Amino acid sequence: MNCPACSSSHVHHSRARSLRDQIIKRALPVTFYRCHDCGWRRFRPVTGWTSLGAYALSLIGYAAAVGLALAIIAGLLVIILALLGIAVPWPH
Ligand SMILES: [Zn+2]
Repeated sequence: MNCPACSSSHVHHSRARSLRDQIIKRALPVTFYRCHDCGWRRFRPVTGWTSLGAYALSLIGYAAAVGLALAIIAGLLVIILALLGIAVPWPH
């Protein structure tokens, strides 16, 4: 592809550097491009099943990690509530 700003063909894939870019890359199936001639930089939706497959896998992994974290928090809450229930009996 050519740079939309200066029509240069020196457009390359770019890493997600800032936190905002990393969040975008995590949340959306996009890839970043950068023009070496004029500094133009933007993200575009990924194309191709390999990229989409990698995105789906990363999303599943991310959802699993969030689910595990929530399960741990819920487990801790249950334990804390059980301890409180023993220490402070509810009035009937
Ligand atoms: Zn350019």
